[in-house]
Amino acid sequence: MSGMNKQGRSTTPGEAGTASIETYTGNRGLRLEEPLLFELDNPGACGVDLDEPDAFAPRLGALERKTRIGLPGVSEPDVMRHYVRLSRKNYSIDAGLYPLGSCTMKHNPRLNEKMARLPGFGDVHPLQPQKTVQGALELMDTLAHWLKELTGMPAVALSPKAGAHGELCGMMAIRAALVARGEADKRTRILVPESAHGTNPATAALLQYKVDAIPATAEGRVDLAAFKAKLGPDVAAIMLTNPNTCGLFERDIIEIADAVHAAGAYFYCDGANFNAIVGRVRPGDLGIDAMHINLHKTFSTPHGGGGPGAGPVVLSAALAPFAPLPYVVHGKDGFRLVETDGEAKADGARPFGRMVAFHGQMGMFVRALAYMMSHGSDGLRQVAEDAVLNANYILASLKDDLSAPFEGPCMHEALFDDRFLKGTGVETLDFAKAMIDEGYHPMTMYFPLVVHGALLIEPTETESKRTLDQFIGTLKHLAAAAKGNDKSLFTGAPHFAPRRRLDETLAARSPVLRWQKETPREAAE
Ligand SMILES: *Cc1c(COP(=O)(O)O)cnc(C)c1O
Repeated sequence: MSGMNKQGRSTTPGEAGTASIETYTGNRGLRLEEPLLFELDNPGACGVDLDEPDAFAPRLGALERKTRIGLPGVSEPDVMRHYVRLSRKNYSIDAGLYPLGSCTMKHNPRLNEKMARLPGFGDVHPLQPQKTVQGALELMDTLAHWLKELTGMPAVALSPKAGAHGELCGMMAIRAALVARGEADKRTRILVPESAHGTNPATAALLQYKVDAIPATAEGRVDLAAFKAKLGPDVAAIMLTNPNTCGLFERDIIEIADAVHAAGAYFYCDGANFNAIVGRVRPGDLGIDAMHINLHKTFSTPHGGGGPGAGPVVLSAALAPFAPLPYVVHGKDGFRLVETDGEAKADGARPFGRMVAFHGQMGMFVRALAYMMSHGSDGLRQVAEDAVLNANYILASLKDDLSAPFEGPCMHEALFDDRFLKGTGVETLDFAKAMIDEGYHPMTMYFPLVVHGALLIEPTETESKRTLDQFIGTLKHLAAAAKGNDKSLFTGAPHFAPRRRLDETLAARSPVLRWQKETPREAAE
């Protein structure tokens, strides 16, 4: 049945009833099929036109390559079309709501991009003499200032290139402090709540610590009694996320910090969820010793698709001396990077080493500072307030259609479990696939692990009520369909994606990473 909206536009998808139509090209209207770039190979085609060098005499003797290198020959328009077509298959924050929980997929203001492309930031080289990049160093210093101001912490290491990298940096500073105290050998255990992001135990394990899980309460928070029972002289640190990955504020955080310190251990906070509290709570006031900030979450800068990240780590006074090289200082001759242990020693510091070759992700620094300055302190506070408001709007609107595992309001993300799907034959994964047919990127699924079949939705502050209402309406519709036993809508989904249900386990376990040319025989078959 074809419906019409009030503007006379059909509400029935143009594809209905066309499943059996086969097109010559494999394209389906604007949904274009696209081969691999290697399959587009047109030997001899090239995007540039270079003169043959004059008087060229090969100097490789018999070692010269005789055959083609195996890279595809493609003209400029073909390369363009290839990547534009691929990009149109991709979901992006610029195309629609991206409700991935724990990822803070918010709008990236175009102003950030404009600033990052200024030649003085975009075109500088890390090995340029420092006197020629004073503005870039000043920008790093200013960003560091605001990160310290917003967190209430005395120091920050800017160089880590992701949240997980920041965790490693913070935990290495903790280890360096323990080495300096002569306690590194006996403090071998790290306490990590069950609801933690996988990177927390992974970081601890990478540094050869034993990971000891702290159970959660029925309220979705750290079990304080169980946590205290686990403290002991062999504990190096706790790694806690606040607000936690259930989207809840850890109310006992100050008591936790006091207990950790009384036991002689350090408090690492995973700050990936800083978006929920920026401008409202200063982690330094909560007794935290080290916390990474995902600039690419809280301070907008684009992420996803393997793009650059930046995970600066703020450090307490106890850990500040161990911050990694290099770092910016403002001396009487302007700004400079402290690059060596010798220079650092003169400042009274004892860096644990270096996380990256140079100073970190300059482009992300520029974007984050542009974001901070354009919001101002009132704007940043409003970020947190609106993010929490939006998440609670989703939680309140959907808690009777989906099932919410924990009572009460949430912070920046709304967590649901799969009890509402019980007996329907539809699972969280099927539900998420059906969202793709509705034109949404699914929310985070099956994380955190403390609830069964988790669906974790983080709308962020940049979504309007209208966008949220359509999303809420979609999920209500899907939940009703699942409960109404319309199973095929789910188990067969996605129906409208370029590829249908994939064997994700096989793809992960036996990925085909190498393109192989079809032999003429195979091609003929
Ligand atoms: C995103 C995230 C991380 C890891 O950050 P990356 O920048 O992806 O390395 C760690 N913990 C939590 C809770 C996160 O959401």
